[in-house]
Amino acid sequence: MADEVSNPELMDKIVSLCKRRGFVFPSSEVYGGFNGFWDYGPYGSRMKRAVENLWWHEMVETRDNVEGLDSTIIANPTIWKASGHLDRFSDLMTDCKHCKARHRVDQMPDPKVCPNCGSTDLTEPREFNLMMKTYVGPVFDDEHVAWLRAETCQPIFVDFHSVRVATRQKLPFGIAQIGKAFRNEITPRNFTFRSREFTQMEMEFFCDEKSGMEWWEYWKEQRIKYYREKLMIPEDSMRIYVHEKLAHYAKAAVDIEVKFPFGWGELEGIHHRGVWDMSQHSKFSGQDLSYFDQDARESFMPTVVETSVGLDRTILALLGLFYDEDRAATQKEGMEDDVRVVLHLPPLVAPIQVAVLPQSKKLKENAYALYKDIDRHFRSEYDETGSIGKRYRRQDEIGTPYCVTFDFDSLNDNAVTVRDRDTMQQERIGVTQLRDYLEKKIGI
Ligand code: ATP
Repeated sequence: MADEVSNPELMDKIVSLCKRRGFVFPSSEVYGGFNGFWDYGPYGSRMKRAVENLWWHEMVETRDNVEGLDSTIIANPTIWKASGHLDRFSDLMTDCKHCKARHRVDQMPDPKVCPNCGSTDLTEPREFNLMMKTYVGPVFDDEHVAWLRAETCQPIFVDFHSVRVATRQKLPFGIAQIGKAFRNEITPRNFTFRSREFTQMEMEFFCDEKSGMEWWEYWKEQRIKYYREKLMIPEDSMRIYVHEKLAHYAKAAVDIEVKFPFGWGELEGIHHRGVWDMSQHSKFSGQDLSYFDQDARESFMPTVVETSVGLDRTILALLGLFYDEDRAATQKEGMEDDVRVVLHLPPLVAPIQVAVLPQSKKLKENAYALYKDIDRHFRSEYDETGSIGKRYRRQDEIGTPYCVTFDFDSLNDNAVTVRDRDTMQQERIGVTQLRDYLEKKIGI
């Protein structure tokens, strides 16, 4: 993967901001953390939920032909036999006998030399399965082994007919789900980009074979549009990687890649998977999972087009792309000369959309009442400590697009000052028009 945009300094700043402001920090930190596991703090979890809700809204709620699902993390282990994960979901690994580091062979610049210490004394490459194992029931033996799901899509294939019958959907239609997935990644790295526990947002679209490529094109367009228009990802920060080497069953595959602080990386895969998934589950379950088309009076195995994105990677991409430092701004707002850190996050997914700031603590009663009112419609926060300038900076750093200041004049004119994070312009708005004004600005 090309690394020409790698910016380690930016990554350090993002990691530090995430910790300082409660976006993301290491899991179980008091015990020294746990490699590949991350906790989302108050702002991080708000943002995560906002992205999740936006995806769900775009992919399920606004479409008549996509249904939702919320399946279990642990399911019948045969699913993972059928999907091929137990036999093939592995990386080829080698150990350096000299420095004891373990490496993924496909990621080594020279597979015969340890990238850590330069030694050529390496073990023969071995397969290392990425599935996370657990036991279900009272006995910890081979018969009771189960697996934490490695992707959220397999239960979708298995539940296809239950969803179809319950909703009376006919082909073509899709099923979407958001949930945790687990992979025993050998080298978790790049902050949350490669974690061992992460959240996926996947949609499997079921259709007939003839229309498969058309749907694949359709979903590719839809997803690119979503990133451009809803998540505001700039054109030069996103690119499409076309897979030339395809899985034997796949008909077409692209990845949407974005510029992460460490370089280009995969954010989403859009894959035409043919009839592989449904055929495999038919074979392993012994159930006929084909679809009977009432109009054509024929039965066939559904073809699947998949869109699969990582929620954690989305958050990391947004933080990296919209992080900014601005020195000139401080003079503009009459503050001492410090660096203004600002996250220019899309207002739809900013953890806080509106901050309400009283000019003085004496205005608390009215300002707090206004905040309570605003909070019913937008993700909001009330802050009365420190100078107004300091409070703006605090909000800029977490990406709050609008700050509403309630001042002494507000008591008489029933209006407030709205300050825009990106332009730093201030506008006087009547309290009765405030909700409409903010809704338009945020794009709700
Ligand atoms: P990679 O090549 O980076 O390992 P992948 O091709 O194995 O990813 P998929 O199996 O296609 O990934 O999973 C779909 C999406 O899930 C990815 O595009 C990514 O956003 C997310 N994802 C996969 N593995 C991880 C991980 N270890 N940590 C965080 N997100 C992940």
